[in-house]
Amino acid sequence: MYGQMKEFLNQELQSLREQKLYKSERIIESPQAAEIVVGGKKVLNFCANNYLGLSSHPELIKAAHEMIDYRGYGLSSVRFICGTQDIHKELEQKVSEFLGTEDTILFCAAFDANGAVFEPLFGPDDAIITDALNHASIIDGIRLSKAKRWVYKHSDMRNIEELDPATGKDLKGLERCLIEANEQGCRFKVIATDGVFSMDGDIARLDEICDLAEKYDALVMVDECHASGFMGKTGRGTHEHKNVMGRIDIITTTFGKALGGASGGCISGRKEIIEWMRNKARPYLFSNTLAPAIVGATLKCLEILTASTELRDKLERNTTRFRKEMTEAGFDIIPGVHPITPIMFGKYENCSALAVEFANRMLEEGIYVIAFSFPVVPRGKDRIRVQLSAAHDEQHLDKAIAAFIKVGKELKMI
Ligand SMILES: *Cc1c(COP(=O)(O)O)cnc(C)c1O
Repeated sequence: MYGQMKEFLNQELQSLREQKLYKSERIIESPQAAEIVVGGKKVLNFCANNYLGLSSHPELIKAAHEMIDYRGYGLSSVRFICGTQDIHKELEQKVSEFLGTEDTILFCAAFDANGAVFEPLFGPDDAIITDALNHASIIDGIRLSKAKRWVYKHSDMRNIEELDPATGKDLKGLERCLIEANEQGCRFKVIATDGVFSMDGDIARLDEICDLAEKYDALVMVDECHASGFMGKTGRGTHEHKNVMGRIDIITTTFGKALGGASGGCISGRKEIIEWMRNKARPYLFSNTLAPAIVGATLKCLEILTASTELRDKLERNTTRFRKEMTEAGFDIIPGVHPITPIMFGKYENCSALAVEFANRMLEEGIYVIAFSFPVVPRGKDRIRVQLSAAHDEQHLDKAIAAFIKVGKELKMI
């Protein structure tokens, strides 16, 4: 039977290669850190989500080891049968304290948290109103619910409707969607958004979103994967950065980025919503418990971040310096404050090929960065997405900026 599918897949894979859409992975031969080994060569890593440099932090590694000794390697159970330990409850409480929420439920990944959160809460009588650039896991989570769905133009808060010149489809602002959902008599409404959008590093307008939610009687759900641990003065996230702590009903986030970088995630928010999730969320009820080692290291991570803002402050300094010096050097950078720093290639000829060539040249210079092209980003928005980290020291930044300038001159971009 497989013969026919094998042939089909080989053709499709070949077609991906021809369209340059085939994904190949570079192999790292060291722990995740500012300096990594790729192909036997030491390079500086500027494309990890290791925002706070905690992925290989000695204290987290120690905490993970200790938790294996203390509570074992695995639970071999879902939470509600025999997979809940004291440490899972402790982590849920510490995450709630950190995010400023009432309660938290753990998942093995934020992808699961987003996959879980909509279906138990929103049915055919309800409305989910979602930013056009939301993460794939939010999109999939929404698909699993039977709610009515409105997609609003990215970060557009207005009561407008216009035609997209590219597709001929309607584009609506958030307020327009809320009005339509009300006109259709929807029972519950929720606005779902990424806190930080991962391709441009731009930040959701949460203050305005919360105002509109109040005006039109909707809930607010924010995915904080690219924010938890470092956005806001004390690193609590976009809700702190935008001064709306306490006004967000549902937060989902990951432990796989700034908060240690292993895996795991959660839904955090209103008490009854979390209680409902413990009873209804399918990736919680039918998937194994988060491993004790990850629980131990994530607890340590939250302890470190609560004791001091040193790491997020260093990340902020690195981000400010890198963005400033790269802009001064003449690169086209989307302005902002987030450590995701997109260096845009759209204004140059053959921008896709140029971005790929640039990234390859950077690797030769000892700097690991990645080029993003269509379909990951829209055509003409080709870029190298740099991600700063608190693991980067001054001399790492010196080296990276010097390499960017050198390669930029060679390729006649600056
Ligand atoms: C990374 C990411 C996720 C998935 O997180 P995992 O814990 O790795 O599953 C979900 N949402 C957003 C916005 C992300 O950036």
